[in-house]
Amino acid sequence: MASLSPSAQALVTDAAAGKTCRCGYSVDHIMVSAEPEYSPWGNFCVLFMGVSTPPIKLKFICRSCKGHLMSTKDPKILESFI
Ligand SMILES: [Zn+2]
Repeated sequence: MASLSPSAQALVTDAAAGKTCRCGYSVDHIMVSAEPEYSPWGNFCVLFMGVSTPPIKLKFICRSCKGHLMSTKDPKILESFI
């Protein structure tokens, strides 16, 4: 979650309040990482042009149990993930 701005981080924490994975980790736990999902055009930019574009969706996945805590399409969060 190091690549999210503090304000986006706060939005994520709010949105996932009370949610935990099977290990009991909440969305702000160190073992939970944000996995970006890019549009085909965004993928193209990242792979071939080396330009990063904001993802279209962010999924928060526990690295230990692979549990899915939440996903978001909130532009305020996505824009801070570059
Ligand atoms: Zn877990």
